[in-house]
Parts: sequence; C-alpha cells; structure tokens
Amino acid sequence: MSNQDDKQKHKKRMEAQKAKVDERIAQATEERGILIVITGNGKGKSTSGFGTVTRAVGHGQKAAVVQFVKGTWPCGERDLLQQVGVPFHVMGTGFTWETQDKDTDIAAATKAWEQAKVWLKDDTIDVVLLDEITYMVTYKYIDLDDVLDALANRPKEQSVVVTGRACHRAITDLADTVSEVRSQKHAFDAGIMARKGIDW
Ligand code: ATP
Ligand code: MG
Repeated sequence: MSNQDDKQKHKKRMEAQKAKVDERIAQATEERGILIVITGNGKGKSTSGFGTVTRAVGHGQKAAVVQFVKGTWPCGERDLLQQVGVPFHVMGTGFTWETQDKDTDIAAATKAWEQAKVWLKDDTIDVVLLDEITYMVTYKYIDLDDVLDALANRPKEQSVVVTGRACHRAITDLADTVSEVRSQKHAFDAGIMARKGIDW
C-alpha cells in the first residue's frame, strides 16, 4: 500500500470515529451533577476522589470532604485542600483504634454521616467526597436506606464521589459512573513500605 493510500485510510477511520463521538456528544443533553463510585481492591480510589475535588476547586467550585477513616492519619490532600478552604470532617475514633469499641465507632460514624448529610443538602456545594464510606455501610454503622435517600435527594447540580472497597450494590445501582479499580500488583506485597506523598 502506498503512503498516500495509508494516509487516506487513516483519514477515513478518523472521520468515522469522529462522527461516532459527535453523535454521542449530541445525545448527552442532560445537565446535572452525578454520583461517582470508585470501588475495588486496587490502589487509586481515594486519590481519584481527591483528584476530582481538586479539579472542581481549580474551577472555583466549592467542595467538601468527609473521611470515614479511623484515627487521624496524615493526608497530603487534606493539608493542601484545607489551605484553600475546603471543609473536612475526619471521622476518627481516637483511642478506640486500640480498644476497638464498637459503640464509640458507631457514634463517630454517625457524627460523620450527620455532617455529610448537611453537605448533601447544601446546593452551594458542587462536589462532596465521601471517602471510605462503603465500610460504614458494610459494618452497618450507618443505615443504607438513609445513605441512599440522602444521595438520591441531593441538590440537582451537586456531584458526589463515593470511595471504598466492596461498595454496596444498591449504591452502585444508584450511581451514574462506577469504576472498579482492580489490583494487578501492589508495591506493599513486594515488601515496599507505604510512602509519604504516594500512599498518604
Ligand atoms: P489511594 O489512597 O492510594 O488512592 P485507595 O484509596 O485505593 O488508595 P485504600 O483501600 O483506601 O486504597 O487503602 C489505603 C492505603 O492502602 C493506601 O496507602 C494504599 O496505597 C494502600 N493500598 C491500596 N490498595 C492496596 C492493595 N491492593 N494492597 C496493599 N495496599 C493497598
Ligand atoms: Mg482509600
């Protein structure tokens, strides 16, 4: 095949592809916030959630973050985003990390969820990140129906990112975009320690 034929073929393929993309763009006419779930066992869920928050904030939008994590682990994204005015609620459970007191955990999860619900009703907030909330539902620390209700009835323009492993099917069913991060390998399994700036 001559170089000219090759170029012509490529051009045709590109045109056909562009027509398909244009058709899909034309079909996407609905404008509203979306519910995104980033789940699975691979690395990249929380970083994706924080990436979305950063993207929104970069456009001058408002974001809020609830971290449903035990303890107050250092977190580079939190340190940065708080500096630019993004409100955070960190669940934490303080001493109970050692004592594993279920009632204290439930109380902390409930408090974090109450704050999440305030933000999920606030139409001035463009993006809410509910980092690691999936575990709270799995442990039944917070009520699934209450979560579904708050997510479904949030302001129309608000987007929400849910992260965590094994997301409940009812939440992925409600979501608009669901990505499952599958682990092919993780440095930790090769004995490499978690790294500042990479893992937290
Ligand atoms: P990240 O915050 O890096 O995006 P993540 O949110 O996908 O990770 P989590 O399940 O929340 O993952 O785990 C948090 C910590 O565990 C991070 O330090 C991450 O690097 C590490 N981690 C994530 N996936 C794995 C894995 N498959 N094996 C071992 N450690 C992992
Ligand atoms: Mg995470």
